[in-house]
Formats: sequence, structure tokens, C-alpha cells
Amino acid sequence: MRILLYGGSFNPPHLGHIRSVRTAAAALKPDKIFLIPAATPPHKTLAAGSPAAEDRLEMAKLAAGEIPGCEALDMELRRTGPSYTSDTLRQLHERYPAAELVFLMGTDMLLSLESWHEPEAILSLASVAVFAREAGREKRIEEKAAALREKYGATVTVLTGEPVTVSSTLIRRLLPTREGREYLPDGVYAYIIRHRLYGARPDLAWLRERAYGLLKPKRVPHVQGTEAEARKLAERWGADVSDAAEAAILHDCTKKLTRDEQLRLADKYGIILDKCELENEKLLHARTGAALAADLFGVPEHIRDAIRWHTTARAGMTLLEKIVYLADYIEPCREGFSGLAELRKAAYEDLDGAMELAGRMSLAEVRSTGRQPHDNTVNAQAYYARKLKEKNVPPVAWTPDEI
Ligand code: ATP
Repeated sequence: MRILLYGGSFNPPHLGHIRSVRTAAAALKPDKIFLIPAATPPHKTLAAGSPAAEDRLEMAKLAAGEIPGCEALDMELRRTGPSYTSDTLRQLHERYPAAELVFLMGTDMLLSLESWHEPEAILSLASVAVFAREAGREKRIEEKAAALREKYGATVTVLTGEPVTVSSTLIRRLLPTREGREYLPDGVYAYIIRHRLYGARPDLAWLRERAYGLLKPKRVPHVQGTEAEARKLAERWGADVSDAAEAAILHDCTKKLTRDEQLRLADKYGIILDKCELENEKLLHARTGAALAADLFGVPEHIRDAIRWHTTARAGMTLLEKIVYLADYIEPCREGFSGLAELRKAAYEDLDGAMELAGRMSLAEVRSTGRQPHDNTVNAQAYYARKLKEKNVPPVAWTPDEI
């Protein structure tokens, strides 16, 4: 039996790792493949702010799922102290005494192998397979392989194939700027975003695809319009444009659910609904949407709150909350209701004036149908009316249509 072993920090595992294992598997036809994330890599320290061992193991499992016959092992994560490869190989040799162990590594690891703890033991317990991390290193690899063969009697197989030139370090640097997704297996990327590892923020094209999948098709243009409007408002008022887009993309993510489904979600996420929310189905999706967006996509608190308050509004909203609330109200697909033109103008002239007007319009609309408006909307309108008074600015002129 032949077992292919691949050790590393896998912080996170990426397509370079996957390409390397696939190439080795095709060439060496192992019976088993093990990815072995290191607890404390001896040759390098884990980057500050690295995820917990369990997260790296989970990501290694997701990466292993991309490769037939591959499994992620937690043996190094369970051991204390530095993760010496020689210890791992001894343990595996005990567990599989008849197996041929092949240790797969990239160029950097091959070149530094002699400085590892107990290199002789490593090279006697396992043969080595090398896959270049970047093109142009063939000569250096062949030289090193020859030296190891001669000095240690090592078996070294140099694999050929096109490398994926990327490192976990580069990916960690890209993720907070919404980049780097193209270097990661889908499952690993989704996990990173869900748990917001490495300060990651989602690629918005990726997020749109997932968020639109949660909507009724007829609602997609509205969400697209809300995103476009939120971006424009964020630019106008100096907010983070991509955060505004993220909140807008997700703001209606539970809108298509039935009342019962909303209530089940509220229960799942421990949301306590008040009487008014329980009586108004339309109010539920802002509460459940914020919780679902946090659960599926790890949205941080300021984005969660923008989703949370996009229907009722509240007194003292943040800039992002106001932007998402107003974008939802005035986006280009909206038409045919009294006050819309005035609100569109106000949203770009004076945010407090726009919030006050939106509050008045919303209260009038709810009351016109005989329903009781939510206290948060009543308070929001009163709050922004007060703010206008303090600034000595008259409210935007608008009279509700006669009913
Ligand atoms: P970091 O950037 O955090 O140092 P890394 O990208 O080098 O991480 P590791 O998890 O430390 O990844 O590497 C595990 C193994 O994968 C090592 O043998 C390494 O040489 C190899 N490796 C890493 N990146 C590539 C790549 N792009 N192509 C082929 N092998 C790679």
C-alpha cells in the first residue's frame, strides 16, 4: 500500500496545494492520501490572527473533499509542541507498518529539508515527492534531489506539471480587500467568509450569486437597484461603498420565506419578536435577514444592523443604516407613489431631511391601510424631525395623497 502525505500550515489550503496533490496522485497512484495540518509548524510561525486549529482542520477537510481518496488528519493538531514531520512519519509507520509512505512537498520545503528536525529519520521513513510552486525552479530542484539521494540514500521523485503560483500568505493579504477567491476551493472560500477568517470580506460577485439564489426571481431587479442606489449614496455621503453594496445585496435575503418559515428562523436564531412584528409579516424579514446573513455569510455587526433596520428604521441610525434604508426606498425600480421624487432629491441633499420625510411617508402609508406603525418608525421620524428643528432646517414639503 502506498500512502501520500501532505503536511503544511494550510492557513488556508489553496489551489496550489490541490494542484500539487492531484499531480502527485496521478503520477504515484497512492491508495490513500492524507492532508496533515501542522499545529505549530517548526519552520515558520503561524501568522498573527491565524484561525484556531479546528478552523484549519475544517478547511483541510473541505480541501481534501476536492481530491478523490483524500482525507484530512488531525494527528499533528492533537499533539502538543512543534509539529515535527519525523514524529508524524513514525506514528504513521506504526499505524501502517507495511505501507510505503511518500511525503509530498513544494520547492521551498525541499530546499530547506536538511534543516528540519531529524532529516535522516524523515528520509529513511518516507520517500519524497516534489512539485514546484513556480516555473523556472527545475534545475535547482534536480540539484537538491540529487544531493539528497547521494547524502541520505533518499528516494526523491520530481513531479512535473504546471504550478499554481500562489501562497497562503498572499491569499491572507488579499481576503480583506474582497480578493483572492480565485485561488481557493469553493468550499474553503465559503467557510472563510462564513467565519470571516483572516478579516476576509466577500467578493461581491460571489455574494450576489448566493444572495440572488435566496430570492424570488422577480425580486432580483429590486435588489440590484438597491445595491446601485446604495453605492451612489455611499459615494455621495462618504461611506464605505463596498460595505453599502454588501448590505444592499443581502437586505432582502429572507423576504421570500412564508410567515411560518420566518417564525421558525426567528426561533432558531433566538430573535424575540414584539407584538407589532408578530402582527406584520412585512417586518419579519429584516430581523431574520440580518440573522441569516450573519450565519451564512458572517456579516459584521454594522452590516447586520443595516439589514436589521432597513424596514422600520430607528432613531439615531448610523450612516450605513440610513443609506441602505433610503436606497431600498428610492432605488430605480420604485415608482408610482407620492413623495418619491421629493425623497430621491432629499437623499442626495440632506440625509436627516430624507430620513424625516421617509419616516413621514412610511407612517402615512401604514396608517392608510389601518395598521399600527412600529414604534421604531414613529421614534425615527420624531428623532429626525427634532434634528431638523435643531438645525433650523424646514422639513421637506410633501402632502400625503387624500385617501
Ligand atoms: P504560507 O504562505 O502561509 O507560508 P504556503 O502557501 O507556503 O503557506 P503551506 O501550508 O505552508 O503553504 O505549505 C504546505 C506545503 O504545500 C509545502 O510543502 C509547500 O511547499 C507546498 N505548497 C505551498 N504552496 C504551493 C503551491 N502554490 N504549489 C505547490 N506546492 C505548494
